[in-house]
Amino acid sequence: MSDSLFTKIIQRELDAEFVYEDDRVVAFHDIAPQAPVHILIVPRKQIPMLDDLNEEDEALMGHMVYVASKLARTLKLDHGYRLVMNCNHQGGQTVFHIHMHLLGGRQMQWPPG
Ligand code: 5GP
Repeated sequence: MSDSLFTKIIQRELDAEFVYEDDRVVAFHDIAPQAPVHILIVPRKQIPMLDDLNEEDEALMGHMVYVASKLARTLKLDHGYRLVMNCNHQGGQTVFHIHMHLLGGRQMQWPPG
């Protein structure tokens, strides 16, 4: 598998504004923010999409949610926020390295577009 865009960011071959990292995930600002706060939480492991998850990835997915919630608290998103994971083309996925969007700082609408 060739390196994804996000793997290149994780390896610092491409620039991004990092806000968090540990041994399993990194988080950086989205290049085209859709809300005042728009951060991507990305596993270091390059998994193309949610359809590719294995049982061994279960804890990693939970860790991503936990990191997102910690970031939301740090960023004082006290009135709420939204976590989004898009899967494949019809789900709106454009970068095929799984990631979670943390969106906040404005009123979210439902249903999403
Ligand atoms: P998806 O559509 O796959 O759910 O989300 C991909 C996200 O990655 C989009 O919100 C897009 O703006 C963001 N993105 C694409 N290229 C880059 C980049 O080079 N740097 C950063 N920081 N974000 C990117």
